[in-house]
Amino acid sequence: MPVPLLDLKAQYATIRDDVVAAMMKVVDAQTFILGDAVVTLERDIAALSHAKHAIGCANGTDALLLAMRALDIGRGDEVITTPFTFFATAGTVHNLGATPVFVDIEPDTYNIRPDAAAAARTSKTRAVIPVDLFGQMAAVERIALALPGLPVIEDAAQSIGARRSIDGEARMAGEVPTIGTFSFFPSKNLGGYGDGGMIVTQDDRIAERLRRLRVHGGSRQYYHDEVGYNSRLDALQAAVLSAKLPHLAAWSAGRRRNAAHYDAAFADLAATGVVTTPYVAPENESIFNQYTLRIASGKRDALQAHLKAHGIGTAIYYPLPLHLQPCFAYLGYKKGQCPESERAAQEVLSLPIYPELTRQQLDEVVAGVTSFFH
Ligand SMILES: *Cc1c(COP(=O)(O)O)cnc(C)c1O
Repeated sequence: MPVPLLDLKAQYATIRDDVVAAMMKVVDAQTFILGDAVVTLERDIAALSHAKHAIGCANGTDALLLAMRALDIGRGDEVITTPFTFFATAGTVHNLGATPVFVDIEPDTYNIRPDAAAAARTSKTRAVIPVDLFGQMAAVERIALALPGLPVIEDAAQSIGARRSIDGEARMAGEVPTIGTFSFFPSKNLGGYGDGGMIVTQDDRIAERLRRLRVHGGSRQYYHDEVGYNSRLDALQAAVLSAKLPHLAAWSAGRRRNAAHYDAAFADLAATGVVTTPYVAPENESIFNQYTLRIASGKRDALQAHLKAHGIGTAIYYPLPLHLQPCFAYLGYKKGQCPESERAAQEVLSLPIYPELTRQQLDEVVAGVTSFFH
C-alpha cells in the first residue's frame, strides 16, 4: 500500500459533516467577505496564540507582507532572515523594495542563529524574521535579546500551536515577538480548503494598521489613509478552519506520537551516524509540520529514490537555500556564506508524519528506510 507524504482525504473523512455544515452556514447567510465567520476565527486564534489581536488575511505570504508594511518597512531598509525557509519569507522583503539579509542557521534545529543575526545588524536594519521551521519555535527570546529594540516578526506558518518554555512560562508560537504570522495553506497543521493567513500581535496600533492595510488602507469605506491591499481571509475558509480548530491539538499530538515512533525505530541507524533524527530543543514542544531526517555521505537522493520505488512519498524542504537562488543573485551572496544552510539543503529528507497514518503505514516507512541501509 503506498504511503503518500500527506493524505488530506484521510483527514477529511473524519470531519466531513462538520466542515460541510460550517461551509453551508456561510453559503446560506450569503456573507462571504469578513463578517462573523472571520471574526470568530480571529478570536479563537488570538486565544490559542495568547495574543491580544488576530487579523485574518489572504495567505501566509500576505501576512508577512502586511506585517512589514505595518512596521513601515520599504525601500532602503534591511531585514535579517534565514535562507533555509520557504521562499515567501524573503520574497516579501524584496517585493517591498527592502533588502533581505541572510544569516546562517543552527544545524540541529535548522532555525536562525541569534548571534549571526546580531552580527548582521546595520544602521539600515529594520526587522528580523525568524522562521519556526518544521513546527519548532525559533529562539525568539534570544533573538530579541541579541537585537535589542529591533522589531521581530515570527514566521510561524509551520508552527501554529507550538510552545516554548521561556523563563519557566509556556509561550505560544506568535505570542512573544512584535508580530507573528500564520498560514492556512492546506499542507500546514491547520490547513484550509484553499489559501488563508492570519497575523497576531499584542500591539493595539499595529493591529489597527493591519486591519486597515488589508482593505486598501481605508478605515472607512472609500476613504483611504494610505494605499493598502485587498488581502482578506475568505469567510468560507474561516468557517472550514473554525470547524477544524478543535482538532488541532489532537492532530499535533498525533504527529508527535508518530515522530516518537520513528525516533525509536531509527535509533540504531542514528547511533551509527548514518541518519540524524530531528532534534527538538528541550524548551520546545514541536507540532512536527515535518519530520525531517538528515542523511550524510551523499546518500540522501538515493534514499529518496529507494522510498519512491517502495511507494513512499517524501520531500526535500528545501533543496536550494535562498541566498543562492537565481532571483537573489543581485544580492551578491556566494556559496559557502551560509554553510549550515547549504549542508542542510544537501542532507534533509522529510517523511510522511500526518496524524492519520496507520500503524501499518508507519511500519512501511520504517521498513523502507532501514532496508536502504542494510
Ligand atoms: C507556507 C509558508 C509561508 C507562506 O504561506 P502561504 O499561505 O502559502 O502564502 C511562509 N513562510 C513559511 C515558512 C511557510 O512554510
